[in-house]
Amino acid sequence: MLKRRATERARNGYPLLVLEDFVKEPKVAEGTLVECIDEQRKFVAIAYLAKQNKGDGWILTTQPSVKIDQSFFENLFQEAIDHRSIFKLNEQTTAYRIFNGEGDGLGGITIDFYADYYVISWYSQGIYKHRDKILAAFEAVVPDYQGIYEKLRFETKAIPATDLIAGNPAPEPLVIKENGIKYATYLNDGLMTGIFLDQRDVRQSLLENYAMGKSVLNTFSYTGAFSVAAALGGATETTSVDLAKRSLPKTIEQFELNGLDPTNQTIRVMDVFDYFKYALRHHLLFDVVVVDPPSFARSKKRTFSAAKDYSLLLEDIIQLTAPNGIIIASTNAANVTTKKFEGFIEEAFNNQQTAYTIEEKYTLPDDFKINPAFSQGDYLKVYVIRKKKNSQMKELKKVRNK
Ligand code: SAH
Repeated sequence: MLKRRATERARNGYPLLVLEDFVKEPKVAEGTLVECIDEQRKFVAIAYLAKQNKGDGWILTTQPSVKIDQSFFENLFQEAIDHRSIFKLNEQTTAYRIFNGEGDGLGGITIDFYADYYVISWYSQGIYKHRDKILAAFEAVVPDYQGIYEKLRFETKAIPATDLIAGNPAPEPLVIKENGIKYATYLNDGLMTGIFLDQRDVRQSLLENYAMGKSVLNTFSYTGAFSVAAALGGATETTSVDLAKRSLPKTIEQFELNGLDPTNQTIRVMDVFDYFKYALRHHLLFDVVVVDPPSFARSKKRTFSAAKDYSLLLEDIIQLTAPNGIIIASTNAANVTTKKFEGFIEEAFNNQQTAYTIEEKYTLPDDFKINPAFSQGDYLKVYVIRKKKNSQMKELKKVRNK
């Protein structure tokens, strides 16, 4: 039995349940399907209960007549695939998300397409209990694949966290295309594949609108995807900075794959905060700076949390950005709302006494379908910011004082 507020939310399409939503906390095994009723004992929804970082269960349907069987999942997959029909036709982009959890009607699972291979991510023990039925449904709707990998994004010791579960192993690397750019991906190497597909539109905008003739600094560069887009867009030079040792060979590989000579680019394996000190000491300025940090990171020296430290991070970035330069500031932290993020930007520029304009904003691309009733699912925020010359800030202030 759901409490009144939770009932209302569920009836308005909100898909997530937490234990506090129930009049009496249900004590059932992970993955159990439950019928939720309101305090008048009227039907509200069918949900499965499963602990994951986001909550304690996901609503599957608010229709009393719907049965949760294989054809329920088949219908979800068919709808999801129909929603991406435009991607299927585009030969220049061969990797995209085909099922985005609660955005496609089933929280706790995502499926990505990588050039005829599929990668299924499971986010809880509970959804994993329904694996056989979900897989059978998926294979019924998508019979033509080269292989299927799965990733277990919940705590478990029993099975490898990444595995090939159907079909043939993918080549290593598996080269995918995104708006014609080639990227090397590795589908069975840990939980990450080498590319974050949700930044596709941002990489394209960097290539088309901001890179030509500019110097570009890519911080938290991972495999250098933004750097490659910038170089192909005509950047005079790119500098990629990431703490992880693997980022060096991976970034070299991405440049070479696209016919770019990596020796013309700078790739640094180091903590970005140390790099900032180095760059300031050497009076380095960049025309474009990309900043796309993890939500949370712990290194030997410090921890970084987007929700706490983003503003200070931006202050460093502002100092390395040339007047009239561009900062592409991104966060995927679900706990940093758009309003909070805009506050961080304002705070950083104010502290640096620098004026700015927001040129563009990006959220998740179309293949990362979201449930409009669930704003947390719309986690990506990317702001393209132009740094104004300091004199403009002073003038601005004068105008305000009048
Ligand atoms: N912007 C990247 C994705 C970033 S993933 C892209 O679009 O592909 C986060 C990256 O931040 C990881 O590669 C991790 O190694 C790196 N990282 C985390 N803390 C860091 C730090 N203090 N300095 C440099 N890199 C860091």
